[in-house]
Amino acid sequence: MNNFTLAIHGGSCWIAPAEITPEREKIFYAALDEALTTGFDLLVRGGTALDAAQTAVMYLEDNPLFNAGRGSAFNYNQFHEMDAAIMCGQRGRAGAVANVRNVRNPVALARMVLDKTNNVLLTGQGAEAFGREHNLRFEEDAYFYTEERFQELQRTKRQAPACNTGKGTVGAVALDMFGNMAAATSTGGFPNKNYGRIGDSPIIGSGTYANNRACAVSCTGDGEYFMQAVAAYDVYCLMEYKGLSLREACELVVLDKINNAGGKGGMIAVDTQGNAALVFNCDVMFRASKDARGECQMGILP
Ligand code: ASP
Repeated sequence: MNNFTLAIHGGSCWIAPAEITPEREKIFYAALDEALTTGFDLLVRGGTALDAAQTAVMYLEDNPLFNAGRGSAFNYNQFHEMDAAIMCGQRGRAGAVANVRNVRNPVALARMVLDKTNNVLLTGQGAEAFGREHNLRFEEDAYFYTEERFQELQRTKRQAPACNTGKGTVGAVALDMFGNMAAATSTGGFPNKNYGRIGDSPIIGSGTYANNRACAVSCTGDGEYFMQAVAAYDVYCLMEYKGLSLREACELVVLDKINNAGGKGGMIAVDTQGNAALVFNCDVMFRASKDARGECQMGILP
């Protein structure tokens, strides 16, 4: 049987380990399990890596526990601006959106950019107009609101200047039974972020990257550090040009380069053999993976 693998993350560094009570842990694990199962079942049935990654990310966007879609972080001006990207490792094609409002599933809009345009990244009102033209689902502001995220904004504002704790993002990477790979990432950014700020998630090569020759990668954490490190593409380059294994490449980027620069976060990645690497340099990363050989990982703390 050809191997296939799905890995997902629900963000890193956005909650203190002490806040993960046994009850909350159960809820988080159930959500990770459901997101993983939804995407993995598609792979089992011969679905594509692109569809599996998108499906898992859409589940996480719809779940208000995570900072993407419903439950996104509030920016300084008290509304939600969301970023997302998806990339197909077979075609080397990507679609991304940044600073979009009221889009129920930003990753679905990113997929439309991939499928229906020759562009890679659409932003703000232009991206929203494009989504409306294609009958994408939009929601009122209230849909994205959660009390927890609202309180988080108030707390963060009291901790000026521009503190960016309490982040979070969701992502998925997949290898399908045809040997194709895909990566998808979606985020509300971090609470109290500047109006107009764009993170690493929709920047191809930084927060999201897939190339059938080596790997698919989705990142989470201090976006500015991941952008400046061109983190996801760096993993690809280390594998392709230096012959590093998936794990070695992810560890070099996250535990060495980004860590030494002062950035916190992590990444999930798969390689052509279906190996998964879930690597982070902070206290918490919500993560899970499953492959056709039956290997399954799931965790929150290191
Ligand atoms: N990387 C995301 C951003 O900077 C946030 C996160 O993953 O926690 O927008």
